[in-house]
Amino acid sequence: MVWKGGHYTGRMSSSSTTSLVMSVAGIAAKIGHGLRIGRDEARWLWENASDVELRSLAGLVRARFHKPGACTYMVMRIINYTNVCVAQCDYCAFYKLPSQEGGYVLTQEQVFAKLDELLALGGDLAAFNGGFNPHLPLSYYCELFAAIRARYGDSLEFYALTIAEFMYLADHARLSYAEAAGRLKASGVRWITGGGF
Ligand code: SF4
Repeated sequence: MVWKGGHYTGRMSSSSTTSLVMSVAGIAAKIGHGLRIGRDEARWLWENASDVELRSLAGLVRARFHKPGACTYMVMRIINYTNVCVAQCDYCAFYKLPSQEGGYVLTQEQVFAKLDELLALGGDLAAFNGGFNPHLPLSYYCELFAAIRARYGDSLEFYALTIAEFMYLADHARLSYAEAAGRLKASGVRWITGGGF
C-alpha cells in the first residue's frame, strides 16, 4: 500500500479471486455519483482509509438525504434497571453478582422518576440496559414496559434491552426468541438494539 498523489492506492485480494485496485478518490467519485459501494470497496476502506477520509465519505452519503449543514439530535437517557449480572465480562466495573452486596433492581416508581426527569429536560428517548439478572422473570420486563406505555403514551419512545440481554432473558424463560419478542411487543416494546456483544 502506498501514498500516491494524495490518495491511497493498492492492490488487495478480495474475498473472491479477483484482485482490485482501489483508491479513496475513486470510491469518493462513485459515491459522488450517487452509487452504492460494493462489499469489496467497503472492506478496502475499512482496512485502508483514515478516520478523516471515512468521515468525509460518510458525509457525502449523508448529504444525499439531509441538508449538509443541518444536524439534529435527540436527548435520551439510558436507564440501568439492574446491575445484577452473571455474565462477568472482564472489562465491566458495573455488575454485581446475585449474591453480592450492592446489587439493585429498579422499581417501576424509580424508573418513572428517571423518565420524568428526562421529560423535564426536554428529552424523549430512553434506553433500558442492565445485566443478565437470573432473578428477573420475563414478567418484570413486560409489566415495566406496559406500565411505561400506559403512563407516557407517545410522549416518549424507548428501546428495550440489548440483543444480548434479550437472548439471555428468552433462554432463561425457556422461550424461543420469537415467543419472547412477541411477549415484549405485546407489552409495548417497539425496538431492541443490536448491541451487547
Ligand atoms: S453483560 Fe453487561 S453488565 Fe453484565 S458483566 Fe457484561 S458488561 Fe457488565
